[in-house]
Amino acid sequence: MPQLSLLDVELLAANSLAANGCDDANTAAVAATVTAAERDGSHSHGLFRLPGYLGSLRSGRVNGAAAPTVTKARPGTLIVDGDGGFAPLALATMTEPLAELARTQGIAMAGVRNIFHFAALWPEVEALAEQGLVALATTAALPYVASPGGTEALFGTNPIAFAWPRAGQVYAFDMATSAMARGDIMLAARDGNDVPIGSGVDADGNDTTDPSAILNCGVQLPIGGHKGAALALMVELMAASLIGERFSFEAEAEYGDDGGPPVGGEFVLAIDPAAAGSSGWANHAEQLFSRIEATEGARLAGARRHANRAHTTMVDVPQSLLDDIESLTT
Ligand code: NDP
Repeated sequence: MPQLSLLDVELLAANSLAANGCDDANTAAVAATVTAAERDGSHSHGLFRLPGYLGSLRSGRVNGAAAPTVTKARPGTLIVDGDGGFAPLALATMTEPLAELARTQGIAMAGVRNIFHFAALWPEVEALAEQGLVALATTAALPYVASPGGTEALFGTNPIAFAWPRAGQVYAFDMATSAMARGDIMLAARDGNDVPIGSGVDADGNDTTDPSAILNCGVQLPIGGHKGAALALMVELMAASLIGERFSFEAEAEYGDDGGPPVGGEFVLAIDPAAAGSSGWANHAEQLFSRIEATEGARLAGARRHANRAHTTMVDVPQSLLDDIESLTT
């Protein structure tokens, strides 16, 4: 399989985005997000997503020259208008104002609207935790996941990401509320691999290990049955209803066939732990982290990514993916 350096990943992403009409700011933001995903081993949200980014630029659904704006609605709330562009530039534009507001107010939220999110969520929560803040982010998507007992795809795969500041590397988890992220099911289908039972059902509602049967006419299942469905519903409420955006099933109505991201919103929360009542919050948390780290067979979420971050210099990229990107660049 061909290998690319991280610099070549970033150049490939940047050149193809620019060739499809992305301006400099959007190109840099998306290319950085794609490269960070490859660097951390989040391959389902790295170069694999580039054809979708390019397709949605070519179809005209996404504004490659989006200029996000930030408006303070109340002392602790920001409304971010993504101007119909990809999420990374809107999120980068939001981070400093949200961090500043959280430091001033103790807690602050941002409702990021009118964006096309196609990435992992850990970059936005890590960016806030690296500034000493506790952060939570969530976004809805397209209707892929059924409520338990039903077979109608209603929820998105609706990820939730959380980050906690630590000396050195921050703690961060980032997980879909579906049993499997859609991107991972797509990768399994592409690579001819099975998926675990419980990932989804086929068109007849039967359990299946065939990723194509789930993707083509079946439906994904939430993580942990009704508990995951409750989390998925919470995400829909926070990332859509609360901030004036579309539910996953509403986003589908505006979705095309270009393979790109859906339009929607993201809810982001930042808390200054110094304002939350505990002067010993950091040391207290470290006691728990160190117990988990000392447990044989256990690890903290994010540890895999951070180990990849420290060591990755080259990444494997399937030739078929390089061919797809090339065909969408000329
Ligand atoms: P995983 O199930 O792979 O991982 C979820 C979390 O659990 C990660 O933080 C991971 O850390 C951690 N973890 C995994 N294994 C262990 C373990 N043994 N012990 C402790 N922690 C562990 O992720 P998902 O498949 O649920 O989601 C993948 C990505 O898809 C996410 O980044 C999510 O944001 C993205 N996504 C994006 C959507 C969008 O619309 N933009 C929609 C849905 C998902 P680590 O990474 O270090 O392994």
